[in-house]
Amino acid sequence: MIYDFCIIGGGIVGLATASALLERYPGAGILLIEKEIDFGMHQTGHNSGVIHAGIYYEPGSLKARLCREGLRATMEFCQVHDIRYEQCGKLIVATNPAEEKRLHDLYERAVANGLKLQRLNADQLREREPVVVGTAALLSSETAIVDYRELSGRLAKTLATHGLEFALGNEVESISEQPWHVDIAAAGVSWRARRLVVCGGLQADRLARMAGLEVKFRIIPFRGEYFQLPSSRKNLVSHLIYPAPDPSLPFLGVHLTRMIDGRVTVGPNAVIGFAREGYPKFSFNAVDTASFACFPGFWKLIWKHRQHAFHELKGSLFRMAYLEECRKYCPELELSDLLPYRAGIRAQVIQSDGTAVHDFLFAETDRMLHVCNAPSPAATSAIPIGRMIADRIADLTSRFR
Ligand SMILES: Cc1cc2nc3c(=O)[nH]c(=O)nc-3n(C[C@H](O)[C@H](O)[C@H](O)COP(=O)(O)OP(=O)(O)OC[C@H]3O[C@@H](n4cnc5c(N)ncnc54)[C@H](O)[C@@H]3O)c2cc1C
Repeated sequence: MIYDFCIIGGGIVGLATASALLERYPGAGILLIEKEIDFGMHQTGHNSGVIHAGIYYEPGSLKARLCREGLRATMEFCQVHDIRYEQCGKLIVATNPAEEKRLHDLYERAVANGLKLQRLNADQLREREPVVVGTAALLSSETAIVDYRELSGRLAKTLATHGLEFALGNEVESISEQPWHVDIAAAGVSWRARRLVVCGGLQADRLARMAGLEVKFRIIPFRGEYFQLPSSRKNLVSHLIYPAPDPSLPFLGVHLTRMIDGRVTVGPNAVIGFAREGYPKFSFNAVDTASFACFPGFWKLIWKHRQHAFHELKGSLFRMAYLEECRKYCPELELSDLLPYRAGIRAQVIQSDGTAVHDFLFAETDRMLHVCNAPSPAATSAIPIGRMIADRIADLTSRFR
């Protein structure tokens, strides 16, 4: 049998792509292959659970547009499928004049992105969040929270009822593009499809190389370590509380996040991971480590950002240093409030010159489309990303029948 489309990767991007293809080609034969026995087991199921509103991104950029569309589409999906989400809002807090200037720039950017943010002074901030201390803040009322793993599971169920096939527990080991189809194989089983979309997250570079693409970048795993507050502190804040971001590295800075299951987490930081899919602290995988240790771009990145790297490592090794980060805006937190919580691992694409790619990155051939980089907020943006991929595939299909 030959499938019309095959998708590798059962994270939120792979599932959203399957959904968009099904929408565009009703009745098509579509197969999704996932190496784990369930959906959303990696980045999708180990993130902060925030449906972002699109504050930070360059106005007019793909990231900005997809995030705005993704916010609406994700909430709509939750409403239709009765998935819990909450528009609790987000406060970005400045604690000194330099950070106030960052907030000012961020406000301008958010307005250009079509957001309506509220500017708060110190008193207005205290009124809304009595335990948060700052000199000024921005309030984004649209920002929401959800459980992306739950959402992925529901999406998969809906797709199954529309005839989509799943091959769970199958790790793809070979991909071979032929003039009229693509052959895909895992241990003891193989499939054939007219088109292939690869949404492999932390394994995207390996899957691209496996398929014969020239890959100049490398995926470096960055651990995002979290703590959770004790249940007695679960009403500490009613919004998500973020520090004013450093514009050069906007994803750094631990935040207080209300989760949809009622917990409050603190984090994440960003430290090098020695295993792409090893979640416990000090996880080590020799192949994963060698993959970045032998890559010159990794050393260039570390050297360029050595101060930040040292700072993040200190926070990872010493809980007190981590606590100091959050105390800047929530001074009443104590060391005993930082309870263990699972880590997440980001797939960060690094170029050979040491540059980190912060935007989406795709690679195409006649019969394949590889999603090489789907960084945050790709969980928020997954539905429009899936639609965009389906458009690209339609274009490929019209050119290469
Ligand atoms: C710590 C952290 C916090 C984040 N917070 C947020 C947030 O609050 N909001 C937001 O919008 N985004 C957030 N993100 C980003 C977001 O989670 C990711 O961008 C998104 O989940 C990427 O989805 P994906 O489907 O591309 O990757 P993944 O979820 O990693 O899925 C890839 C899938 O491919 C499968 N796979 C890989 N290799 C193979 C193979 N050989 N054969 C078969 N299957 C294979 C994997 O098992 C996996 O299931 C965060 C990320 C992290 C790590």
